Amino acid sequence: MDLNTLAERLLPGEYPALDTFEKQYPPRDLPKNAEVTRLAPSPTGFIHLGNLFVAIANERIAHRSGGVLYLRIEDTDLKRKVEGAVEAVISALDYFDIRFDEGAQIGGDDTYAPGYQRQRAHIYRAYAKDLIRRGRAYPCFCTEEELAALREEQTANKEVTGYYGKYAKWRDAPEEAVYAALDAGKPYVIRLKSMGGASHKFTFHDEIKGDVTVTENDQDVVILKSDGIPTYHFAHAVDDHLMRTTLVIRGEEWLASLPIHLELFDVLGFRRPKYGHNCSLMKMDGESKRKLSKRKDPELSLSYYRQEGYHPFAVKVYMLTLLNSDFEEWHMKFPDKPLEEFPFRIGKMSKSGALFDLDKLNDISKTELARLSAEEMLAFLKAWAADYGTPAQQAYFADEGYLLKVLTLCMGIGGKKRRKDFVTAKQAMEEIGYFFSGRTQRDDYRVDEATRNAILDGFLTTFSIENDAQVWFSNVKALAGSLGFAAEMRDYKANPAAYKGSVSDVAEVLRIAVTGRANTPDLWTIMQILGDARTRERILAARA
Ligand code: GLU
Repeated sequence: MDLNTLAERLLPGEYPALDTFEKQYPPRDLPKNAEVTRLAPSPTGFIHLGNLFVAIANERIAHRSGGVLYLRIEDTDLKRKVEGAVEAVISALDYFDIRFDEGAQIGGDDTYAPGYQRQRAHIYRAYAKDLIRRGRAYPCFCTEEELAALREEQTANKEVTGYYGKYAKWRDAPEEAVYAALDAGKPYVIRLKSMGGASHKFTFHDEIKGDVTVTENDQDVVILKSDGIPTYHFAHAVDDHLMRTTLVIRGEEWLASLPIHLELFDVLGFRRPKYGHNCSLMKMDGESKRKLSKRKDPELSLSYYRQEGYHPFAVKVYMLTLLNSDFEEWHMKFPDKPLEEFPFRIGKMSKSGALFDLDKLNDISKTELARLSAEEMLAFLKAWAADYGTPAQQAYFADEGYLLKVLTLCMGIGGKKRRKDFVTAKQAMEEIGYFFSGRTQRDDYRVDEATRNAILDGFLTTFSIENDAQVWFSNVKALAGSLGFAAEMRDYKANPAAYKGSVSDVAEVLRIAVTGRANTPDLWTIMQILGDARTRERILAARA
């Protein structure tokens, strides 16, 4: 069969010679050892923690090596374009401080543009046409039904399913059959003519997993679909080459297709990039570990962290903790150093599943938030509230001076030790609600109603907003004593049976009355911030 004629029939018209592309997309002028990495999401609109996990690794390695991180949108599989999906990827990653140097909608150097695969269709076709001419790709006219029947037959025979070897019906089809099908106008796809054998295993060096043994590809995979759009396998090989990618870090779910990709690089005459397949994020489900699931785990979605108000820095710290085993120690030693200074290395990435644990993230979040100044905390809360807060919460920012006093107290700024009350913006906004009209009754009184009223009434008889902390507290102690509670803790401890309780039980009633909670920062300061009128109002409202 004359392959030039066939190629012309399948992909008619002039296509540039392949070295045109080599010249148009020349090797990058970068320092030695600089890595060119990429993020290549499909624009589905769903961006998950796994994307961020891989993005951080790609970003760190590119930028630490003086290289480039680019964004490529793999939109060949999408029937419909998901509106806003690309902006969503960029903004979701930008929130975590992942900055691309170039690519789809990024700007930057456009030598390697466009960053959308659908806009590069002519390039893939040119390479496909060349493969047809070289006898390394061919048309296949099988219908969906035929392929389904083949799968059934293979399954029944307990054989590997797919289009390969003796099952590859059109692989060596006679010329007449091919042209008859073309003349009849039958739809067709273009398949790779694989030279691999399923009985051949080979060792492949993965930058993360080390040496892995994989089986050669023998599937005649589709490279161009019936509409002339390439498959992901084919498009990404062409792109990774022409965009001069040196290192591909991606999820380990792609390891299974690696043999296909390696064969494609080889047949196309491209130098292979290095690959690192990153472990999946797992979580404990009862006694066993499983992968995070889109359906079961809201925390898989990146939008979850924004909605809940996790500080992006804390999430990044946690991701880095999972990515490089010695990061946690480094960060503990140098908490104030920018994360960029951490010597991130691909060789330190974990080979098998990383256990994602929300409790651990919450711990990290508390620690990181406790490092902020009151002003930084305010800015963080304000940004969150603008997008996700209730109108009542948004009103907390009307008087920033007041809010700063609240935050200073709740964060323990200026005290002996920083408080770690805040985990997320959402939780912090609820936590400080009692300083505003949002007081809710969280905890119950532990004394009877008569005692409660006696404490509240008694407190008001001596209360003055002018009283300093010492005077205020000695009044509370005196009140405790007068109502049968021990004024001094040590007296109570020495003889608990002699008292109704201690001064701390009396203070708790006041605390719950004013804040709705049994645990708060210093109550005197809270009253100072609330002011005389509001404190009295709340005490009166709390009488049974
Ligand atoms: N488009 C693929 C995805 O959505 C990219 C895989 C790769 O990085 O090679 O995950």
